[in-house]
Amino acid sequence: LFNRPWIFIRGVPSMKFLPPEGPAEVAFAGRSNVGKSSLINALIGQKGLARTSNTPGRTQELNYFVPDGYSGEGDDLPPMALVDMPGYGYAQAPKAQVDAWTRLVFDYLRGRATLKRVYVLIDARHGIKKNDEEVLSLLDKAAVSYQIVLTKTDKIKAPGLARLLDITAETIRKRPAAFPEVLATSSEKHRGLDELRQAILTTVEG
Ligand code: GDP
Repeated sequence: LFNRPWIFIRGVPSMKFLPPEGPAEVAFAGRSNVGKSSLINALIGQKGLARTSNTPGRTQELNYFVPDGYSGEGDDLPPMALVDMPGYGYAQAPKAQVDAWTRLVFDYLRGRATLKRVYVLIDARHGIKKNDEEVLSLLDKAAVSYQIVLTKTDKIKAPGLARLLDITAETIRKRPAAFPEVLATSSEKHRGLDELRQAILTTVEG
């Protein structure tokens, strides 16, 4: 699947714009600037598919991507969809925007039966912050399986990364919906991408 071209199919600002349920979905969440667009582009091998943006907090939509070449009719539905969730934690975001984010995300997490897993991206330089914890709590409450993916691991040295992996695993150990294995990636250095692709395929096939 990751060898094919992928296309953007729609941006979803609220629940009524969701595509019909069908293909298994995996979603990507993370603080603004965590490297989410870069990671999605690297996974799919297409520059500029997910927007890498310097205006954090701008996209308040669930962006749907699917492998190309399916009509979307009947038996020809794509086997999976990848959902880019709007970034969170932008300090200057007005309260109304934060509220809109929370409503959209919570409705989606609670209401989407075909959502198989959320990959929660964490910047390897910062580790899990308070607003990440809030999102993990939201996921636990919605009982949606999630896995932590460290990004930008090229920015820290090996001992620091090993320590962060330990700390992160410990932080999520008691969380009911967390998948215990933490993945380490770098979009820049193409590290951990195959492991993440494999994890996604196992998730959508399972
Ligand atoms: P988003 O807001 O989460 O979509 O983040 P972006 O993908 O736009 O990335 C935010 C910034 O981090 C950009 O300046 C990227 O070039 C940089 N970045 C993203 N991934 C990596 C990575 O793996 N390594 C390094 N060193 N920088 C990265």
